[in-house]
Formats: sequence, structure tokens, C-alpha cells
Amino acid sequence: MLGQMMTAPLLISSLIDHADRYHNRTKIVSVETTGGTETVTWGDVARNARRIGSALSALGLEPQARVATIAWNNRRHLELYFGASGAGFVLHTINPRLFPEQLVYIINHAEDRVVFIDRTFVPLVAAIRDKLEHVRHVVLMGPRDEEAAAQLDGLEFYDELVAGGDEGFVWPSFDENTASSLCYTSGTTGNPKGVLYSHRSTLLHSFGGNLADGLALSARDVVLPVVPMFHVNAWGTPYCSAMVGAQMVLPGPNLDGESLVNLIEGENVTIALGVPTIWQGLLAYAEKSGAKLDALQRTVIGGSACPPSMITEFRESYGVETVHAWGMSEMSPLGSINVPLARHLELPIEEQHRLRENQGRPPFGVELKIVDDDGRDLPRDGETQGDLMVRGHWVLDSYFRMQDDNILQDGWFATGDVATLDEDGYMTIRDRSKDIIKSGGEWISSVELENIAVGHPKLADAAVVGVAHPKWDERPILVAVAAEGEAPTVEELLAYFDDKIAKWQIPDTVVFKDALPRNATGKVLKRNLREEFGTVLTG
Ligand code: AMP
Repeated sequence: MLGQMMTAPLLISSLIDHADRYHNRTKIVSVETTGGTETVTWGDVARNARRIGSALSALGLEPQARVATIAWNNRRHLELYFGASGAGFVLHTINPRLFPEQLVYIINHAEDRVVFIDRTFVPLVAAIRDKLEHVRHVVLMGPRDEEAAAQLDGLEFYDELVAGGDEGFVWPSFDENTASSLCYTSGTTGNPKGVLYSHRSTLLHSFGGNLADGLALSARDVVLPVVPMFHVNAWGTPYCSAMVGAQMVLPGPNLDGESLVNLIEGENVTIALGVPTIWQGLLAYAEKSGAKLDALQRTVIGGSACPPSMITEFRESYGVETVHAWGMSEMSPLGSINVPLARHLELPIEEQHRLRENQGRPPFGVELKIVDDDGRDLPRDGETQGDLMVRGHWVLDSYFRMQDDNILQDGWFATGDVATLDEDGYMTIRDRSKDIIKSGGEWISSVELENIAVGHPKLADAAVVGVAHPKWDERPILVAVAAEGEAPTVEELLAYFDDKIAKWQIPDTVVFKDALPRNATGKVLKRNLREEFGTVLTG
């Protein structure tokens, strides 16, 4: 032997042990589903995680049994993140906005044995309970509640399970490649597909996420994940926060602008993470109420393209830096993040601002490339666009229970996004490949048009889709949602694109809707819009 270093498996339990050992007094603020706010500490979360881990083990579940949650962001959910995975089970976080048939499908497909639910979802689960083939325990995430028990036969109670659990429970040790959590992608077609994360991929994702040019959470941060814990592990924030002992603020069920502004101001949140639609509500309320968002230093925005106008508003009205990030369920989710390089800091300030608008560059651990239709590599010149391929330490290899479908191409995962990459690896997402608009043989990015449209003060929301056109095959149309009390005209909306984009890319017309159709994770269902408005240009 030449001598070497210690090895220990990279396990999620080590994250909560660390938070317990060195950050046990750091606060976790949790907005409860039944109202009110509870403040606990990392030490309390760690103790309850061990108790719930031991209680789950005592139920006699087999290793890697799936333990599901249908819950908001709150401290019991956080305890389960560490308790279930730490004890060797797979935490299956379920999006409650799925249709009931989809819920039944994924709970049965995952063979969930235990389902933990928040009070909100008692009626939802009661309605499908008899269709859940493998579920042995349904547990309400709270104290004993007779009213809830009357609605759901055999309902058990989290606080009772925890009370019966062993505080001195010792986490089992196992192979770091063991599965730790499971999340289904809510595709717009077909059945949802499961992405199974491992302890190793989760730990490496946490290291990557916490790099200084990543999310860069620290022990001085107060982190508000508005992104749900049922959507790609709240972008990894529970793990990243435990790793550095950041304080967390868990917003519970109220994600409206007013609740979020009050939480940010009341708890001195320094970094908040979520999708653009959430911040629209927050910015509207902050403006109306005159809130200053003083403590807030950064927002991390991803999940859909962040409109440049939003970045500007955060910066100019509140002095908040927006970090634009891109990722997907299949990537745990972090794929790229927009932070400047040293030489960018010497550029004129407007130029620096412009450079912050794209989806950013990959952290160590992820590689990106673009390819043409034949799979050939395309240049990283910032202009050529192609199908975006990824690989890395926290990227999916095969979907849950679909190991035989070889989905990789030469070891790369096809994201379904179309993007450009520049020399430094900065990426601009042009579209989902199925949404990009082909007009007379030229490509038009719906994302770029949407980014412009939502900057119009009379619009609350906007989507651009391609529809059939007799001469150009396809042309873009703008689907607009007017802001409250506004009635913009087609002409003024189209005129807004002048000088912002090439003339031939300006949408042909505007149609109005009260709201955009969205899937369970908040993404616009463009297929529905194409069906609804497919013939507006052909008559
Ligand atoms: P999901 O797996 O539900 O998180 O969806 C992943 C998809 O969301 C990606 O493939 C992108 O199409 C889209 N997406 C995520 N972040 C961004 C972003 N910052 N800009 C544009 N699209 C994004």
C-alpha cells in the first residue's frame, strides 16, 4: 500500500449530522399549513429526522421502500427529507397539482408504501385512497386531528410517530449509489416519468450548488425556497442549506405576493429562489405596498426563462441581484447559473447587465454541448443554436423502472431544449425544441419574444406560439393576459416590439386570454394554446 485517504460513502444523513453538530442553534422558520409560524432549529430538525427515521424503520419497510410526501414547504417536510432518505428509504415527493388520475398512476408506479400528507390534501387523498395499491400507511403531517381522521380511514399522525421514535437512532451506512429520492417529471404528454436520485448524486449536487459561482449558500444566509419541495427537491436547497448551516424560511402554502413580501421582510431573508411567475406576484405587491425588501440580496430565478425586465426591476427598485439559473428534474436540477467572470467587471455597466440575462454557465460537475439534427457537435460561438445535450455527476442515466430504454446518445442526455453556447460556456435557451417557431425556413425563439412582451406595463403574462400560416408555414402569435384594469390594443402591443427585434420576427397578431394554461409545475401548456389558436392566421 502506498498510503491513502479515508473514504466514507456520500450519504444524505451526513448533511443533517453536520447541521446538528455545528449549526444546531440556527433557526428554521416554518409557516404551518393550519396557520401560524413555527420556529425550530437545525438541532430540532435533526432530532426529529432521527426519530422519524427510526419510526419508519420500525414499520418494517424493506430497504429503498418508497415513502411519499404530498406537502408544502414546512419543517416536517424538511425532517422527512433527511429522516426517510437517511434511514435508507426513498423519499418520493409528489406534486399535488397533478390530476388525480396522474397521482394514482405515480403512487402505484412508485409502489409507495407510506404517504405523508399535509392537512390541505386530506380530501385529495381520501378521494383516491382505495385506488392506491401498495400504500400501507397514510400519515397526516401534524398532531392528532379527529376531523381529518373522520375523512380518511386509518389515518395516522406524524407527531405521534415522531414521539414514538428513537432520538438516539444511528443512521445506517450503505453504498452511496443507493437511491435517496424520487421525483416525477410532469411532462405535457404521456405518463409522468420518474427521476431517481442517489445519495451520491445529491451530495455532489450540493457541493456543486454551494460553489461560490453556484447558489453559494453560506452560514450567514437566510434562505427562502419558494420553489416547492415537491419540485426537484426545492432545487436542492434543503441539502445545500444543511451542508453550510444556512437558516431556512419555509413558506408553507401561501405563495401570494403579500405573504412572501411579509415573510422576506419579517425574517430578513437574504436569498429567495423560485420561478418567474412567483416573482411577478411578489413584485406587484411590493410596489403597491411600498415594501423595500431591505435584507434581500439575491433572487435565484429559473424553471422558465427569467424576463430581463424582472432582473431590471429587482436591481433598480430593490437593489437585489438576480441570478438566472437553468436546470431540469433530470439534472437534480442545477445545469447552469449566471454569474460574471472577472473580465466582465471591466465592461460598461449596461453591458454587464445584459450579460446577466442569459441562463449562465455550467458549474464543475456538469458539461453542456449543442448538436445538429445528425448529432454532430456545433460551435460554441454564441450564435449557432442546436439541441442541448448534458452529462455530469448529477444527470439522469435512465428513468425509474425504464432502465432498458437506452435514452442516452453516446453518454449524453438530450434535454429537449434548443440553445446557443458561447466560448465561455454561457448558454441562452432559445426554446423547448417542440415550441420553437419555424417561419419561412428561419427559426424564431418564442422565449425571446415573451421576454419582450412581459416587459409591457399593460400585460400581466404572455406566451408566444407558432401557428399555421399559408405563406410562411408558421408564424408567431402573442397570447396576452392583460394586467388588472388594463385593456391594451393589438396595435400597441405589436408596436412595442419595434426596435427590440428584427421586423420579420414580430408576431403577426395578438389574442387575449384571462390566464395562461399551465401544467402542474407552472409551465405554460403551449400545445393547448396551439390547439386553441391554431387557425387564427388561416381563418
Ligand atoms: P423541469 O424538469 O420541470 O424542471 O423542467 C425543465 C425545463 O424547464 C428545461 O428543460 C427548460 O426547458 C425549462 N427551464 C428551466 N429553467 C429555465 C430557464 N432559466 N430558462 C428557460 N427555460 C428553463
